[in-house]
Amino acid sequence: MAKVELKSVVKRFGDVRVVHGIDLEIADNEFIVLVGPSGCGKSTILRMVAGLESISDGEIYIGDRCVNEVDPKSRNVAMVFQNYALYPHMTVHDNMGFSLDMAKRPQKEINEKVRKAASMLELEPYLDRKPEALSGGQRQRVAMGRAIVRQPDVFLFDEPLSNLDAQLRTQMRMELKKLHMKFSTTTIYVTHDQIEAMTLADRIVILKDGLIQQVGTPVEVYEKPANVFVAQFIGNPP
Ligand code: ADP
Ligand code: MG
Repeated sequence: MAKVELKSVVKRFGDVRVVHGIDLEIADNEFIVLVGPSGCGKSTILRMVAGLESISDGEIYIGDRCVNEVDPKSRNVAMVFQNYALYPHMTVHDNMGFSLDMAKRPQKEINEKVRKAASMLELEPYLDRKPEALSGGQRQRVAMGRAIVRQPDVFLFDEPLSNLDAQLRTQMRMELKKLHMKFSTTTIYVTHDQIEAMTLADRIVILKDGLIQQVGTPVEVYEKPANVFVAQFIGNPP
């Protein structure tokens, strides 16, 4: 658990500014959703928090620590992508335990943590299977399990459900919500799907062209959109 703070965060790729000075404070245990059209900078912001992308200007804090110069491995964040690359030659158990194995944790501890995560995610019957023998939804849960076993301070999700069909997306949304209630880990969740944002978020951050348009609870942004863009994007046009 940790709060996350972005202070005047800017990202440039060459001469092109794609994030224009983002200020955002995310509370301990908060589930915040970054939403906006494709190309508005959502993934870039998430990748800067994860340390996978450098920051051109500004500061990012995780807990009380400025992480600008901290490498990704030492930030204690776990990121789940839409292309949840599982290792095809490893079982579900070993995929989930991989990061702990790399960190040279004792096998007994790895087994316990994997079993606990598998139980929460209802993956226990599949621990000995290879990813190819799983459905899309099950694979996505393995990817989440892999993040959970590390007990990160912060979860980062980049459109984790966008490869799933509509029915499965709805189901996974509910599971994510349940997981968050169980773990209460600070979460930054990126999506371009308004419904996903409205159902999951404590607060929504609406972005356009690398700029925050509004931050608020789902009810606030729906009932009091800051501008026409927000109103149209959230689906409550004037
Ligand atoms: P989103 O996730 O909201 O769709 P991104 O954060 O991926 O948006 O991208 C924001 C902008 O930055 C886009 O215009 C994209 O083309 C650009 N961009 C992203 N990554 C790079 C990169 N490595 N080099 C140059 N431009 C990039
Ligand atoms: Mg993206």
